Amino acid sequence: MPFWRLPRLPRSRIAGASSAEAFRGLLMGTSVLAMLTHGCFSVLFWLSGVPLLAWVNVASMLLYGLCFRLMGRKHMLTGLLLMGGEVMGHAVLAVILVGWDSGFHYYVMLVVPVALVSTQTPEWIKWIFALGTVTGYVVLDVLWRQAVPPYALSPAVLNGLHYFNIVSALVILAFLTATYFRLVARAEGRLRELATTDPLTRLLNRRALRERIALEERRQQREAHKPLSFVLADVDHFKAINDQHGHEVGDQVLVQVAAALGEGVREVDHLARWGGEEFLIVLPDTDELVAGQVAERLRQAVAGLQLPGGSRGITATLGVAERAEGESPDQAISRADEALYAGKRSGRDRVVCASKLPSAGAAPSNPQ
Ligand code: GH3
Ligand code: MG
Ligand code: MG
Repeated sequence: MPFWRLPRLPRSRIAGASSAEAFRGLLMGTSVLAMLTHGCFSVLFWLSGVPLLAWVNVASMLLYGLCFRLMGRKHMLTGLLLMGGEVMGHAVLAVILVGWDSGFHYYVMLVVPVALVSTQTPEWIKWIFALGTVTGYVVLDVLWRQAVPPYALSPAVLNGLHYFNIVSALVILAFLTATYFRLVARAEGRLRELATTDPLTRLLNRRALRERIALEERRQQREAHKPLSFVLADVDHFKAINDQHGHEVGDQVLVQVAAALGEGVREVDHLARWGGEEFLIVLPDTDELVAGQVAERLRQAVAGLQLPGGSRGITATLGVAERAEGESPDQAISRADEALYAGKRSGRDRVVCASKLPSAGAAPSNPQ
């Protein structure tokens, strides 16, 4: 990239970027803001008769321009060290020249959170930065809080600077804290999603469904007599699809089946990929009769699917069980599984309700 062309801010906004990219974007944005602020300070000091500080602010503007470029080229550590050095050096110089009351020392404190949170900086550099900042701040206080500065600004300018610097430092601190909080919340959200979602079908995974089942179980205990049903669906002859058309086509079939099942259930139902080509649907407030009707609708939805290219149809067999009095969810799921395998044995592409199994006192039904 030619040197005159400015690097662009990382395009992804904080909410969508990786933490490192978001941090880079944050610091590049801060560099631009710092350039503008130092430009204003430069004019102010020029008008207040402190040309030395006016020139220092011009130098700071150039330095922040350099930081922006460095970070745009992903030289994060150099950019960060320069930024930290500028904040410290500038604050110290301003305190020495125009006095402690100007409030420039507040900016020194901002180096600590940035140094400690930065994503790509080695740990030992972070701590040197943070401890150096604390020590520097105390030394500055001891040496210059009571000192008479060489440049005596008018009380009005000094007061204005004092409050501007307090407000500006606190606003920057609030901005940094809010940004870090958003980064952490987003990372937490991503981790939660990874831990609860099946990466292929984007459905809940087994672990997440187990949590939902536990919640439903507690709800059922509170609201006595509300039925809870389970539907276990298994794609028929899926191994043959894999063997004849390849694993990728198999994966696409799973995605298609997941979408078809997802469209067929209510918002309040919980659908998950329970295992390889097996899906479990938890239906709160639903008895076995209605769950059987839902399952039949789902069976028809899957039967309407075709393999990519339309070379053959897809079918699934479904087992249904309503949780009986005193039964654990696992026992009900296991009865749904028995019903499912009864359906497989009797020809597949069908819905079997557990209460209709011979072991439950009747022959398996075939709704077809
Ligand atoms: P049935 O009709 O009796 O259910 O027979 P089936 O072939 O569907 O069942 P089987 O249990 O014999 O085979 C399931 C296959 O599913 C075997 C396994 O390799 C495949 N499988 C499991 N997970 C995945 C996956 O994520 N992607 C793909 N493509 N295949 C998978
Ligand atoms: Mg199968
Ligand atoms: Mg299976």
